[in-house]
Amino acid sequence: MPRPASAKHPKRAPSAAKVEELRGFLDDLMLRYHRPEFLGTDPLAMVHALPPGLDREVGALLAALLAYGNVKQIQRSLNILFTAMDGRPGRFVSQFNHHHAAAALDGFKHRFTTADDVLALCHLLHEALAGADSLEPFFLRGCRFDDETDLALAAGRFVENLCAQDFGAHLDRETVITRTSFKHLLPRADHGSAAKRVHLWLRWMVRPADGVDLGLWRTVPASHLLVPVDTHLLRLGRHLGFTRLTTHSLAASREITAALRRVHPTDPTRYDFALCRLGILQACPTASRMEACLQCELRLACTTHRRLARKPRHPLSS
Ligand code: SF4
Repeated sequence: MPRPASAKHPKRAPSAAKVEELRGFLDDLMLRYHRPEFLGTDPLAMVHALPPGLDREVGALLAALLAYGNVKQIQRSLNILFTAMDGRPGRFVSQFNHHHAAAALDGFKHRFTTADDVLALCHLLHEALAGADSLEPFFLRGCRFDDETDLALAAGRFVENLCAQDFGAHLDRETVITRTSFKHLLPRADHGSAAKRVHLWLRWMVRPADGVDLGLWRTVPASHLLVPVDTHLLRLGRHLGFTRLTTHSLAASREITAALRRVHPTDPTRYDFALCRLGILQACPTASRMEACLQCELRLACTTHRRLARKPRHPLSS
């Protein structure tokens, strides 16, 4: 059976000095970008504007699950959705009433996601809450912290447990869970894909409140988080030699997280927001350029910068 590209040349673990050096570069990057003033490029900005507690927790889940497409489109859709919920997504879900919710969500659409998808999700979240003031106890039902070193399977069980609940008198279970748009809205993190949107929500919930992440959960350890792999993080992970994989897969998420866990064992995803800003703000342009690298905190650890530095410049280039 062919081995994955990254397994053909197993890498030696970096020395303690190299890890220490990388930690310094990543901490510098975090100092620059892991700040509330950069939230404007992230759907998390709209979550911070919600009332603290359950409204923020449910709002964060909706924001993360709808975080596909361009930023403006996401922000427009979230604005419409949160307005339909009177700015209280937690209350909307905890006091869920099918007829009222269906009327409030009527006409909502975000790319593939329809009002029916959001309606079904809100019903399932209402069932999951069962009167509690947080989704954390429901998520914990799928956790096996002693046997599993990350949250991929737990996140998969979260979706499985959500969909195993009573769908009530107004929804047909088979119709909902087989609908392509619903499966896209609520991806299975244990089926091989990176499931970026689910891991993004978990990072927001679990990492401490630091002006960016929300720190709403108390029991799930940050050491078990996986980085939410999108285009930017995959590219940065490849630049830094954390992975050679080219697809947004669970395997890529695990390889990049493993490298970051060496740097920060208890909180490997702490660098995720800052690394993503490098890509989103084009501080690390898609077509790598030496001019950008010279401004970058990561250049001394970056394999792409090393390659650019070795490449002789064309005599006629300016
Ligand atoms: S050194 Fe250059 S290629 Fe590497 S991460 Fe920074 S900007 Fe990107």
